Amino acid sequence: MKITTLGTGHGDATISNASSATLIENQGKFYLIDCADGTEQKLLQAGVEPSAISAVFITHTHLDHCSGLPNLLKRFIKFKRYGKNPDIEMKCFLPDMKAADIITAWIDLNYFVENLQFFDAANGFSNGELTLQAFPNRHLGENGKSFSYKFSDGIKTVFYSGDLSADFSDFNIKEANNCDIVFSEMTHFPVDRAVDLLKDLKCGKLVFNHIGGPYQNSESQANVIRKLSALPFPVQFAADGMTFEI
Ligand SMILES: [Zn+2]
Ligand SMILES: [Zn+2]
Repeated sequence: MKITTLGTGHGDATISNASSATLIENQGKFYLIDCADGTEQKLLQAGVEPSAISAVFITHTHLDHCSGLPNLLKRFIKFKRYGKNPDIEMKCFLPDMKAADIITAWIDLNYFVENLQFFDAANGFSNGELTLQAFPNRHLGENGKSFSYKFSDGIKTVFYSGDLSADFSDFNIKEANNCDIVFSEMTHFPVDRAVDLLKDLKCGKLVFNHIGGPYQNSESQANVIRKLSALPFPVQFAADGMTFEI
């Protein structure tokens, strides 16, 4: 399995860090976690035709995680309709099904609407090659629709925190434990609080993404990594376009 962090920034894109999008490649198929604006071009730069994404999983409806979705779906409709990529299917998993009507209406203002498939991300996904489970977090409040995702190809398992609450207490350490790689956001909480809880984590590697402004420089990143240096696994910050093979 290969994972590419296409966009590793927070709510406001910066020169160095675009907003959220992560590409997963498994057995010749491509999947996306989150799809901020600019994802279409980031996919092309990674050598992936955007219309050929098999499934998109949105963690929550903040725009830095889904603003590129209408455009991605438009490209899929267009490439299927005009035979550039006629056999493709793209499944779209949403954290809140109300978003399906909104996205569809937006595309309908500008383009044909056909072949769209929306599913509730809370129910998870499996196609026999990749399975995905969704775990609610409290980024949007106690009953808000925001998820962490865990996915597996049957051999390797990946945990992806999504955006979390302001005290990091909803980082799902139980589900993250024993994963081959864990992606944790690094924006919404005091870093010392995260460092405290992450001391109990067991995994193959910890990667910070969704990197907040204060951590978008090598000095701050080195400081966080120093605070976690006692952990028995590697810790690093992601950057846009970085790949992780597991
Ligand atoms: Zn965010
Ligand atoms: Zn958010």
